[in-house]
Amino acid sequence: MARVPDHRTRYRCTACGNLTRFDVVASRQTRAFYHYSVGGELDVEEEEVITETVEEVSCRWCGNASSVIELSADDAEAPS
Ligand SMILES: [Zn+2]
Repeated sequence: MARVPDHRTRYRCTACGNLTRFDVVASRQTRAFYHYSVGGELDVEEEEVITETVEEVSCRWCGNASSVIELSADDAEAPS
């Protein structure tokens, strides 16, 4: 169930109706500027997400992973 998330995506658990609490497992590939001090201390700067993939979304209330569906932005604004 790998997908690239859109941050407007909302989820809904069809088992218990939860709309607000989910455990999300995601993989991110990032590029960052590693800035070391002369003494070797690292500061990570300008971290940029190149790809982000949601691997699994499960319901925080009932623990169900198979009943969580994605809502489109329209569905979320006017649930039927
Ligand atoms: Zn649930």
